Amino acid sequence: MGINIAAKSENDRTRPTVVVVGGGLAGLAATAALASRDVSVSVLESRPRLGGRASSFRDQETGEAIDNCQHVVMGCCANFHHFCRLVGIDHLFRTERELYFIGRDRRVNRFSATWLPAPLHLAKSFRKLSYFSWRELWSIARALKVLMRESFTSDSGSSNSPTQSPSSFAEWLAEQQQSDHAIRNFWQVVLVSALSESLDRIDCGYARKVFADGFLGSRRGWEVSMPIVPLDELYGTAMASWFRERNSRIQTQCGVKQVLIEGGQAVGVELRTGERLDADHVVLAVPFHLASSLFVESDQTQPILDELAGARRMESAPISSVHLWFDRPITSLPHAVLVDRFGQWVFNRSTILNELPDSTSDRQTYYYQVVISDSGECLRVGQAETVARVVQELHEVWPETADAELMHSRMVTEHRAVFSPLPGIDDQRPAQQSSVHNLQFAGDWTATDWPATMEAAVKSGYLAAENILRQLGDASQFVQPQPSLGWLSRMFFHH
Ligand SMILES: Cc1cc2nc3c(=O)[nH]c(=O)nc-3n(C[C@H](O)[C@H](O)[C@H](O)COP(=O)(O)OP(=O)(O)OC[C@H]3O[C@@H](n4cnc5c(N)ncnc54)[C@H](O)[C@@H]3O)c2cc1C
Repeated sequence: MGINIAAKSENDRTRPTVVVVGGGLAGLAATAALASRDVSVSVLESRPRLGGRASSFRDQETGEAIDNCQHVVMGCCANFHHFCRLVGIDHLFRTERELYFIGRDRRVNRFSATWLPAPLHLAKSFRKLSYFSWRELWSIARALKVLMRESFTSDSGSSNSPTQSPSSFAEWLAEQQQSDHAIRNFWQVVLVSALSESLDRIDCGYARKVFADGFLGSRRGWEVSMPIVPLDELYGTAMASWFRERNSRIQTQCGVKQVLIEGGQAVGVELRTGERLDADHVVLAVPFHLASSLFVESDQTQPILDELAGARRMESAPISSVHLWFDRPITSLPHAVLVDRFGQWVFNRSTILNELPDSTSDRQTYYYQVVISDSGECLRVGQAETVARVVQELHEVWPETADAELMHSRMVTEHRAVFSPLPGIDDQRPAQQSSVHNLQFAGDWTATDWPATMEAAVKSGYLAAENILRQLGDASQFVQPQPSLGWLSRMFFHH
C-alpha cells in the first residue's frame, strides 16, 4: 500500500506541506501544479485507484481492464490538454478530426472542418447532414446565430433579450420554434452527450457554451481526443513516476474522515484509521455530495458548511456504458454518433486501444462500447433490456452484422456521473478559496464556468493550487486562457 504518510522527510521540514483529499482529476491537477513548484504534496485517495470518476476496473470474464465509461475531451478543453502535457501523458491520446454521424437513414455523415475560418469551418459538413431538409438546416443555423448573440446570465437563465427570459434551454428552443425533429436530431444529440441532462433541465448559458466553445468559436475546439490506454493506466501508472520524481506522495485506500479546523485555520486531516496528518494547506477535492460530510459541525466549521450549502442542493445525472464483445467486427469506424437512438455514441474500443484480436487464442472478440448519457431509462428497464435494445440498434444501423454473435456484455452505470447543469446552477457552486485561508475546495462542481467535465476538474485543481502558491508568495499561473473567438466569429456574433 505504499508509503507511510505520517513520516515527514528531511526535505519536507523545509518545504510547505499540502494534503490533497481525493485522487480524481481535480486533486491530481492541484498536485501536479503544486509539485512542479517544490511544494510537498500528499494525495489521499479512499479507493484503491486514482482517477475518481474517470477510472477502469478488470472485467472478470474477459480479464480486460475496462473503463467505467469512455471519456472524451474536446479541443477547447485548454486546461485538460495543458495538464496532460505537464505530467507527460499527452502522447496517450488520439485525436479524431472526423466525426461520424449516422441518422435514421443509416448513412454515415462524415463531419470535418474545411480550410474556412470559424464559424464557417464546419458549415460544409453541417449542410450535408443527410437526415435534415434544407428548411430544417436553415432553421437550426438561424437559431445558432441567435444563440451565439445571447449573453445569458447564469443566475436565472435570463438573457439579454428584453422579453421574459427562458427558464431552461428547452424553453429557449421553443421560443426559436425548433421542430421536434430538429430537437431530437440536432440539439439533443449535442447537448445530452455533452451535459448528460434533458433539455428542460439545462441552463441556457451552459447550452450556449457547448456550441460557442466547442463548435463555432474556434477552428479546433470541436475535435475529440480519447485515451488509447485504459483510464487506470493513464491516471495511475503513466503519471506515477512523474509524481514520484517530484516527491509527491500518493496514498490509495486511504479514506479521510474529517478535515481538522482549529483556531480558524485548517491544520490537517484525520484519517478513517484515526491517524492524524498535519499540513500547512488542505485541498478538499471530493465529489460535491461528500464535501460537507468531512467537517464535524462546530462554531469553527459552520462558515464552511454554509459555503457548501449550495453544493448540498446540487443534483446529479447518471451515465451508462454498455460494453459489448462480438465474435466479428460490427464496424470499422473508430466511433459513431447514433442520431435519434437510445444508444448515443458507439466507440470501437478494439480500434481505439489498437488491440487486434489474438489469432492464437480460441476466443476472438471485438470490443465496442455504447455510451448513454442522461441514462435514467437504462436504470428503469435494467441491464438485460438495455443490452438487447442497444444490440438491436447496432444491427439496424449495420444490417450486415445481424449474424454477429454477442459473446459477452455488461452495463456500467455511474449514478452520480455529473452534476445536473440546472438553470441557475452557478449560484450553487462555491469558489475554490474557502472562508478559511488555507483550505481550498476543488472538483468539477466548484466554480469554473464549465459543466461537469475533466476540464472543469483540472481547472478547479489549478485554481486551488494558484491560491495556495499566491499565499506562499509565488505568482505562478496554471489556468489556461480560453481560446479566443476567431475574427470572423467575433464579427458574426457581435462579440
Ligand atoms: C460515466 C461517466 C462518463 C463521463 N464522461 C466524460 C467525458 O467523456 N468527458 C469529460 O470531460 N468528462 C466526463 N465525465 C465527467 C468526469 O469524469 C468528471 O467531471 C471528473 O472526472 C471529475 O473529477 P473530480 O476530481 O472533480 O471528481 P472525482 O473524479 O469524483 O474525484 C473525487 C475523488 O475523491 C475520492 N474521495 C471521496 N471521498 C474521499 C475521502 N473521504 N477520502 C479520500 N478520498 C475521497 C473519490 O474516491 C474520488 O477518487 C464522465 C463521468 C462519468 C461518471
